Amino acid sequence: MPKVQMVEQSKIKKTKAVKKEVVKPDFRKYLNVYEFDVKLPSGIKLKLKPITAGQLKKFMTSIKSETIQELSKAMYEMISSSIVTEDFDINDIFLNDRPALILELRKISKGTVFQFEYKCTKCGSQSLITEDLGDVKIIKMPDKINPIVELDDNLSVQMDFVKIKDEQEILDLGLETETELLLSIIAISVKSIMTPEGDQDDLSLEDKIFFTDNIPQPMYEKLTQWHDEFHFGIDMKRKVKCMHCKEESDFTLDADNFFF
Ligand SMILES: [Zn+2]
Repeated sequence: MPKVQMVEQSKIKKTKAVKKEVVKPDFRKYLNVYEFDVKLPSGIKLKLKPITAGQLKKFMTSIKSETIQELSKAMYEMISSSIVTEDFDINDIFLNDRPALILELRKISKGTVFQFEYKCTKCGSQSLITEDLGDVKIIKMPDKINPIVELDDNLSVQMDFVKIKDEQEILDLGLETETELLLSIIAISVKSIMTPEGDQDDLSLEDKIFFTDNIPQPMYEKLTQWHDEFHFGIDMKRKVKCMHCKEESDFTLDADNFFF
């Protein structure tokens, strides 16, 4: 045994000596080397690295165009470049998880202090609001989810949570407004439609949009209620106070703005 150890040690010494001669300083290997473990509201665990100054600059430039397609693409690129978990497909992230993921990225890249301008609804003056993003509450995905929504005696639907890949499919339709996007997200979350003749689960996106466009409003509300009941993500609702007239108002944070 001692003999073997001796040999190994001398080997190590040799390698070290050789290394010393060839190693040249390279600052690149010390840049953005820290990784952070995060757990999303759905329970998915990821390893992230912070957004670099260059990525942020690119993001800020590309969102100036302001179409929802371009904003989504810029966000998609920024998120995917910071996920370091191997074999993880960003397309499989739930839309409900995305604000939490952006929040975590923001915290590790720029810290928790978030400031934004708020225009008072009563007196019209601007206030600078400071939020500590470390205090944002996470709403976990419920343990039990009932995917079936009964619409009437004939129709029921099976619902599913929407993923980034579904949103990409919707955006490819060329939507222009946030409202159109939200309506289509409800449509695409319908996984199958159950009729007295049987279940229909080979629905195209067009079928789903046709379906949600052609049901009465109370039925449509049952679909949005399903999303509310089983919602997970982060709590974006805040109370903001006007610095001038002290009026308090409800305000909803938008994860898309966390990097400004
Ligand atoms: Zn005011």
